[in-house]
Amino acid sequence: MKYLCRSFIRFFNLSRKMEHPENDPRYNGLKVNKGIAQPPSVNPYLKRRPKQTLRSVEEYVKGILSGDRVILSQAVTLVESSLPEHQERAQAIIEQCLPYSGNSIRVGITGVPGCGKSTSIDSFGMYLLERGHKLAVLAIDPSSERSRGSILGDKTRMEKLSMEENAFIRPSPSAGSLGGVARKTRESIVLCEAAGFNYLFVETVGVGQSETAVHSMVDFFLLIQLAGTGDELQGIKRGIMEMADGIVINKADGDNIDKANMARRQLRNALHLYPLPESGWSPEVLTYSGYYKIGIAEVWEMIHRYIDFVKQNGYFDRKRKEQAKYWMFESINEQLRNGFYRDPEIAQLLVRLEEEVLQDRKSSFTAAREALEAYYRKKR
Ligand code: GDP
Repeated sequence: MKYLCRSFIRFFNLSRKMEHPENDPRYNGLKVNKGIAQPPSVNPYLKRRPKQTLRSVEEYVKGILSGDRVILSQAVTLVESSLPEHQERAQAIIEQCLPYSGNSIRVGITGVPGCGKSTSIDSFGMYLLERGHKLAVLAIDPSSERSRGSILGDKTRMEKLSMEENAFIRPSPSAGSLGGVARKTRESIVLCEAAGFNYLFVETVGVGQSETAVHSMVDFFLLIQLAGTGDELQGIKRGIMEMADGIVINKADGDNIDKANMARRQLRNALHLYPLPESGWSPEVLTYSGYYKIGIAEVWEMIHRYIDFVKQNGYFDRKRKEQAKYWMFESINEQLRNGFYRDPEIAQLLVRLEEEVLQDRKSSFTAAREALEAYYRKKR
């Protein structure tokens, strides 16, 4: 009897083990579309989906214009892909969506990890949705460039918002240079707007150059700060402070309220020392609590006050035009760079030239000129 029981348990365990997809010899990892970087982990419990076939440009455009989030998401994947055939289709989709875009308020949100960006975006987003708006949240994560890790994408973020029909949340494109990642986000904005999302958040982490990229694609730039560290001012890089149209001090709740108010006073005083920005708007400083939803309406009143102000004085349109010009040149720069560095012959030549420079046989400038001349000769 004992023997029978043991055999049964062994058999039961074995068959249970076989149920695990990772034990299935046919299982060979998560399928990742060509041209998209391999994610850092794979989930063996995910059911395999049939390979996605590309739709026609018309189908994508029709789907996007009718507000279909699945098709929008697929089109954004094309935008993010570096495969030439995907890129070609993506550009055609963007071109056709362009006349339907532009009709939104674009808000950039930045702050150091832990300052409460996701909690705040959840609360800000729900505030907008409750007022009948549609919100898309995009991100630019500079950490993905070097480490392929992600500061913005790992945890479950924006829990309430992610369940909402009228919200579209997309993590940062992960592959490529910061400029490339930012361009993809800029293009995705066009698609989201064409799909009817009239508010757009572009989130980034307050640790590097990504703020400049976000600033060049939004109408309002919001900096989230924390109080109570004693070094409110030292913690903010001057450049970021200058970009901000509004600074909001989060976690103004419980024991933290006094500290938050003090930080607000300090920041307001510090801002007086800065020259008035081109917009003519003096950046405001507010306190709020994203978690307890205190002061959310005031933050939005500030943003809308700003939008009204810059629409009236013409800065809103001027800035958008400047941004369009900026992205034209960014795209040219990126494509020139990609064309050059991805050329296999040039790649080989660069290895040789690099060696010559390292051995002091050639100056950096001569080597650069030779490489560029070789490229131009090929292009002629
Ligand atoms: P992120 O890294 O900037 O996205 O920050 P998170 O939104 O993940 O928040 C980091 C931590 O701060 C979490 O534990 C949140 O619960 C907490 N937090 C966020 N907002 C508030 C707030 O308004 N008040 C308090 N007390 N805690 C908050």
